[in-house]
Amino acid sequence: MIHGMRKKDIKLPSPPAIALRILEAVKQDSSSFGELARIIEIDPALTTKILQVANSSFYGMPNTVNTIEKALSVLGLNVTKNIALSFVIAKEVTGSESGGFSFRKFWKRAVTCAVGAELLASLLRYKNDDLFVSALLQDIGVLVIYLCRPEEYRQVLDEKRVTESSVFGIERKILGFDHQEVGAELLAEWGLPETISTLISYHHASDCPAEVKMPVNILSWSTMLASIYYGSRSVEKVQQLKAAICPRFKIAEEAIDALVDTVAEKSVEILSFFEIDPGEIKPFSLLLHEANEELRRINLSYEQLVMQAKQDRQKAEEMAVELQAANAKLRELAFRDGLTGLYNYRYFQELMDRELSRAVRYQLPLSLMFFDIDHFKIVNDTYGHPAGDEALCSLAKLVKTTMRTSDIFVRYGGEEFAVVLPMTAQAGCMVFAERLRRRIEDMEMVIGGIVIKITISIGVTTHEPRMRSMDKSQMIMAADSAMYQAKQNGRNRVVVKALQG
Ligand code: GH3
Ligand code: MG
Ligand code: MG
Repeated sequence: MIHGMRKKDIKLPSPPAIALRILEAVKQDSSSFGELARIIEIDPALTTKILQVANSSFYGMPNTVNTIEKALSVLGLNVTKNIALSFVIAKEVTGSESGGFSFRKFWKRAVTCAVGAELLASLLRYKNDDLFVSALLQDIGVLVIYLCRPEEYRQVLDEKRVTESSVFGIERKILGFDHQEVGAELLAEWGLPETISTLISYHHASDCPAEVKMPVNILSWSTMLASIYYGSRSVEKVQQLKAAICPRFKIAEEAIDALVDTVAEKSVEILSFFEIDPGEIKPFSLLLHEANEELRRINLSYEQLVMQAKQDRQKAEEMAVELQAANAKLRELAFRDGLTGLYNYRYFQELMDRELSRAVRYQLPLSLMFFDIDHFKIVNDTYGHPAGDEALCSLAKLVKTTMRTSDIFVRYGGEEFAVVLPMTAQAGCMVFAERLRRRIEDMEMVIGGIVIKITISIGVTTHEPRMRSMDKSQMIMAADSAMYQAKQNGRNRVVVKALQG
């Protein structure tokens, strides 16, 4: 409990003069509308507001109500009086918005409560002329306490924000009294009928007299209705409301859904008569719909994200495949000779490592053949370099058609070539070399209309299965030396050189 704060410290504000006169008039002459009409009509703004309410869809009057007297006759004295009191009190009991407490928001919520109470009563076929004004003023005690002791009351509001528990409980805990008593006291003091102040004095209580249980319940349900629009956890509150009302009054849940929406719609209309900017009060079903749409959108964009990721991955995979192909192509290019398309020197080096170690591991023969075109310089010099190129290509083609597919044909450099013959012993390689030599010797290359003939000198060597493992350079050297020997021996011939080992 706040030190030194007692209920008697709460000074009740004096009643608005016009409210007093209205109440006085009703008390004096409840059978005649004349006095009340006269008092209201003195205030044109109040008159306009009452006529607006009377003509609003809220009351659904068949004919236009254009005078207060007519309003009194169609709405009844009590309802008209209550509407008048509602306007007067809501206008008078207010304060500065700057103190951190929004009076505007308080009244906006209060009007929604009043609208909710009225609509709920009609749904439940319960008639009570005091419901609207009672619901409107049920929390007026909050304003009274706040206006009197703003600092202390802010603690109540802060705790409410943090704990989300009811103001009523926090007030009892912190202040030792509550807005329910203060509000009821204020209205009694102002001379409002007991029917109204009694309802307000019980609006948070569970133990009210049986005869006011129904209107008190409606007040508390009206608070729930309002908090759907002004509080948090709206869906939960709609559920609570349905649980409280539907089974008891045998009302379909859809009727509550419709009621909740109508509360928003009618509140906007009534708020304008109170000169309170309704802002945007969207019907709950629309809010739900929008929330679901938002959820769907989030889901959708999640799906889109997933889809995008999938596409990205697929693209990456495709690119990886392309890259692999490009790499293979590059690799191929790196290992190929540009003129003849044959494997090149670099490839030959790798190939020899591979084939030699395989031959050793599996005890297989491996032959290597080197050959070089005889006096090729003369071909170039006589027919030109391009003709020489063509001759190199023709030679490559012929070699390819002569060798086995398992043999690997390489342009070693210039007009020097190599053929690697896996699983081929020296005798087999000799047969191939000799056949190749002869075929080239017999070949007539027609280049630029001229027949060109060439010969080659071949050097052969073989790594036999029984031999020890050796470095490829030894084999290369042997084949090269054999070829050199073939040149030395007169060209256009095959020379074999045995490997040492
Ligand atoms: P031999 O081998 O019989 O001793 O005589 P050669 O004239 O063939 O030997 P040499 O090494 O002296 O000359 C090789 C010639 O091959 C030199 C060069 O012009 C030619 N040559 C090398 N590569 C190419 C090429 O790619 N295209 C053409 N057109 N000629 C080439
Ligand atoms: Mg040569
Ligand atoms: Mg040469």
